[in-house]
Amino acid sequence: MASEVAAAPQVLIIGGGVIGCSAAYHLARRGLTDVLVVERNTLGSGSTSRAAGGIRLQFSNEVNIRLSQYSLDFFENFNRYTGLCEDECDIGLHQFGYLFLLTDEQAWQDFQENVILQQTLGVPVETLTPARLAERYPGLEVSDVLGATFCGKDGHASMHEVTQGFARKARQAGVRFWEDCAVKNITREGRRIVSVETDRGTIRPETVIGCAGPWSGQLGEMAGVDIPVTGYKRTLFFSEAFDELSPTQPMTIDMGTGLYFRREGPGFLIGETDESQQAGFDTSTDWNWLDTVVEHAIQRVPAFERLRIRSGWSGLYDTSPDHNAIIGKIPELDNLFVATGFSGHGFQQSPATGLLISELVLDGAARTIDIGSLDIERFRTGRFNLERNIV
Ligand SMILES: Cc1cc2nc3c(=O)[nH]c(=O)nc-3n(C[C@H](O)[C@H](O)[C@H](O)COP(=O)(O)OP(=O)(O)OC[C@H]3O[C@@H](n4cnc5c(N)ncnc54)[C@H](O)[C@@H]3O)c2cc1C
Repeated sequence: MASEVAAAPQVLIIGGGVIGCSAAYHLARRGLTDVLVVERNTLGSGSTSRAAGGIRLQFSNEVNIRLSQYSLDFFENFNRYTGLCEDECDIGLHQFGYLFLLTDEQAWQDFQENVILQQTLGVPVETLTPARLAERYPGLEVSDVLGATFCGKDGHASMHEVTQGFARKARQAGVRFWEDCAVKNITREGRRIVSVETDRGTIRPETVIGCAGPWSGQLGEMAGVDIPVTGYKRTLFFSEAFDELSPTQPMTIDMGTGLYFRREGPGFLIGETDESQQAGFDTSTDWNWLDTVVEHAIQRVPAFERLRIRSGWSGLYDTSPDHNAIIGKIPELDNLFVATGFSGHGFQQSPATGLLISELVLDGAARTIDIGSLDIERFRTGRFNLERNIV
């Protein structure tokens, strides 16, 4: 079975999450359509399906701001850029903003420095005093807050629609998608990957793009290279309809506890990072975590005492050691690129990432955004690129 060649595409993309689908779309848009995407489950069923859909410009380092600026413009004009009409694809972009609440002196200082950088790069972000905050968002308890930052362009969109939109356009252009097809082994000859064993037989690609999300470390092991990305469980809860806060309440992030919440239809989506989670691949819903989240939520919004939680899910953050993506070629191999390790901001960076992957493959270098700081070499040389605005 494994020896028969099932396909020999110019480009093989491993992983059909939002990143793999965006890469396929962007390659096809540039005319490279001899592309095969293999996904062991269904498209978008990995971390992509578990995300909060958040999109923001408020990052602490320049490359993330630039990736987000490109991507936000893409989301704002998704139908125009892809050519999909809204009946076919409505990504449900809501720009209610992201509101960061700071309760720690050092963090508040850092956020004000971030705002200067963000404004220099053209991000319409503002700082708010506690008095202004209380006036604008009356439901929030802000007696311990030193200040806040707000950007009204930030928001959220549907991961499902974005992923399917990319896949649909790529498929129309001729890209093939094989679902229920897991990669089991990778064979190298010298500096090249020569074959990839899958459930559907051997694939002999010219170029491989690894988009395996939290499972990228496993993919690296198959290819004999170290890709320092693994999964960390994160949990979200969803409430019944709740009308005691504004229907346009922004994504509100309490940087003191890590609690965050935003509107999800008539109800709320609520989450908080459980720092005690160990690396792993378990995605069973962590109901034990709900008590902590609710306690912090009620402290921040007393009316949340009447909030009724109706469901929840857990998923995996695709975490790299410095909480930033790894986008680029793997130095030991001439035909392996990766786009992974987004550490909780991969959905929102998917348009820019797909574009940059297409440039790396077709032009030999990323042209639109300088992503030199996102190469994998940084972990080997200690040139870390820490992102401090982690949610
Ligand atoms: C609770 C939670 C909240 C989040 N909130 C946000 C947010 O608000 N905003 C944001 O931008 N991001 C958010 N994220 C992060 C975001 O979900 C990820 O960064 C993004 O989805 C990564 O996309 P991906 O395509 O790289 O990975 P994935 O969606 O995980 O796709 C990788 C795919 O590879 C497949 N695969 C793996 N191994 C193999 C193999 N051997 N063979 C074949 N297929 C394979 C998997 O099945 C999977 O479908 C959140 C994540 C979680 C868990």
